[in-house]
Amino acid sequence: MTNWKYTTDGDVAIITWDMEDRSMNVMTADVIRELDAAVDKVLADDSLKGAVITSAKNDMGGGVDLTMLAQIKAQAVKEGGNVGEALFGFVWALHSLYRKIEVAGADPKTKKGGKVFAAATPGTALGGVFELLLACHRRFSADNPKAKLGLPETLVGLFPGAGGTTRLVRMLGIMGAADYLLQGKLVNPKKAKAGLLIDEIVPADELVAKAVEWVKGSSESDAVKPWDAKGFKLPGGAPYTPKGFPTFLGAVAMTHGKTAGVYPQTNAMLSAVYEGALVDMDNALKIEARWFTSVLMDPRSAAMIRSLFVNKQAIEKGARRPDVPDAKVKSVGVIGAGMMGAGIGFVAARAGIDVVLVDRDQEAADKGHATIEGLLDQGVKRKKVTEEAKTEILAHVNATPDYDALKGCDLIVEAVFEDPKIKAEVTAKVEAVIADDAIFATNTSTLPITGLAKASSRPNNFIGIHFFSPVHKMMLVEIIKGEKTNDLAVAKALDFVRQIKKTPIVVNDARFFYANRCIIPYLNEAMIMVSEGVNPTLIENAAKQIGMPVAPLQLTDETSLELGHRIMSATKAQMGDAYVGTGADDVIKALYEDQGRAGRKNGKGFYDYDENGKRQALWPDLATHFPVSEDQPDFEEVKNRLILAQVLEAVRAKEEDVLVDIREGDVGAILGWGFAPWSGGPMSWIDLTGPADVVAICDALTAKYGNRFAAPNLLKDIAAKGETFYGRFQPQQAAA
Ligand code: NAD
Repeated sequence: MTNWKYTTDGDVAIITWDMEDRSMNVMTADVIRELDAAVDKVLADDSLKGAVITSAKNDMGGGVDLTMLAQIKAQAVKEGGNVGEALFGFVWALHSLYRKIEVAGADPKTKKGGKVFAAATPGTALGGVFELLLACHRRFSADNPKAKLGLPETLVGLFPGAGGTTRLVRMLGIMGAADYLLQGKLVNPKKAKAGLLIDEIVPADELVAKAVEWVKGSSESDAVKPWDAKGFKLPGGAPYTPKGFPTFLGAVAMTHGKTAGVYPQTNAMLSAVYEGALVDMDNALKIEARWFTSVLMDPRSAAMIRSLFVNKQAIEKGARRPDVPDAKVKSVGVIGAGMMGAGIGFVAARAGIDVVLVDRDQEAADKGHATIEGLLDQGVKRKKVTEEAKTEILAHVNATPDYDALKGCDLIVEAVFEDPKIKAEVTAKVEAVIADDAIFATNTSTLPITGLAKASSRPNNFIGIHFFSPVHKMMLVEIIKGEKTNDLAVAKALDFVRQIKKTPIVVNDARFFYANRCIIPYLNEAMIMVSEGVNPTLIENAAKQIGMPVAPLQLTDETSLELGHRIMSATKAQMGDAYVGTGADDVIKALYEDQGRAGRKNGKGFYDYDENGKRQALWPDLATHFPVSEDQPDFEEVKNRLILAQVLEAVRAKEEDVLVDIREGDVGAILGWGFAPWSGGPMSWIDLTGPADVVAICDALTAKYGNRFAAPNLLKDIAAKGETFYGRFQPQQAAA
């Protein structure tokens, strides 16, 4: 065995997971095979009472290696076999192993004579690894507040399909298990114990000893799980009983309300829960395994896994990083302590980086410092940050109006007003003090980087690092290369993003870069529809039905109509006579200019808000300004307009080489503006829909609504040649 060590302590075997070549354990085919052999060895050894399964690393393990799924599929195709059978074979092997641990050699009829297995996790245990813990008879966790425990599968297009769904529902009931299963909620050991996910928290240095002690002192009944004992009833009632039915119905309605039914994994999971509750454990597991295989076979899940797991990880690990030595940031200077600057200062200080936060005067700098303190206080209140950690993080922040304090900084992030003149002044002032090889980044959201770099005496070291608001919540960071930006600047930006644990994409310079460029047409299309008399409720619902987490009129309120107005005015001024106005301009003008409705920020936009800022109904007078037509368009057409507004812009960005790598286009769209995650991103959406079908939809919409829906040449070419986006640009991932 290379991944596990097998030792004994008296009548207890200790099976310790320690993968040689990885910092974090993950379930691979070899790991599963070796664990299976170790479990067999325990069961065959009459001198043993049971075993402890643990890890020699700081954590138990990160889950199942999902890249395996694509390999299993590819292998089956290569061998001319049945892909479904191959996937089920893999799933069932894992199920059988976990069930073998759970039954532990007990007599199938009397349930007597079984051994016991205790799980002892030193830290994080996720997904398929946490499902291993669930199969054991008792779960110990080290007292490690950093540990994360739970089942995040649903967040990447899967559900806990190695017995986790069936076991958790039997442990906690449908309501108790709902958050963990449907939302992938992760908890620290303390919360896991309170939520009955684990049994005991013990000091880290006594972890294995305590688990061994328990096995030694265990009784016969400890070896039998409640659902294998006579008369077991599901906590809270089974879904087909009068008591359990309303709960299950509620869970289904809640899930559907949140997901609009577009996620194959949640539908399959709910089916596995319902059907599994009708039968005994062994059959329930079989049902779960079949539903899980059906999800693995669903192209939407494959697309989600590809973007949200495989490619997101590849990007975070530096898939686009130039080959230059480590460029980790030691000290960052943030200029402008406003909303964005304070947010950037916060995430950097939290990552242990020294921050010099500069604003025009001490008062403005202090305001930024207070914003950071406020964010930490929120964390303290929610028990996510300790008082000591707060003090430690704040000690990294030096808020000052003194540019000289920037001297030792190896990276600068400028976040002053969106005004090229002010930005140019700041660039010159900063460059007068920083070292020649320090990198200067601007957080501009609209101004092309090459233009701003003209104010720099070292345009090679000048780059865009575009954060999204609120900085501490949004995971995407766009890195924008100006014409002269060099590799070191790109590496520095990427290493910084990695340090603060966000996901970067690297794009070329153009107005609005990538994300904003795609989101603006989405918001505009909704407003154009309002101007045409389409029922605003229909528009919002259509967006939800295509899987957008936030509907467009709501999102316009969130980002503010004031910002929309500013962008419209700036674009008009820049384009002059070439500017072609749309109904969106009329809507923005009517709401913002005429009615002073700025969105959530002033409590009135497309929606009304109560005094606590809570969103109420759509503004009733909207219909006075933009009457709702008698004839409403086809719902599918509204959906297509909303999704294509985004997708076509993403394709244009690729065509124009703003977007270099389609993996980044897909991951960036989901993390940056919530593009229908079920699809895996805009390029994956085209591949799933079929490029030729997308072109046909474009043609129909172009005939009716004009050239903004014209299929870009790249899309037309891919469709005409019968290709797909992944087939052309990422062939090794095309069949994912
Ligand atoms: P803000 O108005 O909240 O903050 C700007 C800060 O810059 C203020 O504290 C101001 O005092 C300071 N400042 C102005 N001139 C200065 C100077 N000469 N020297 C030092 N400090 C100066 O603005 P914000 O929303 O934080 O935006 C800042 C930048 O980030 C802009 O370029 C904006 O386009 C960009 N951005 C904003 C968002 C967003 O959602 N707000 C998102 C991404 C990027």
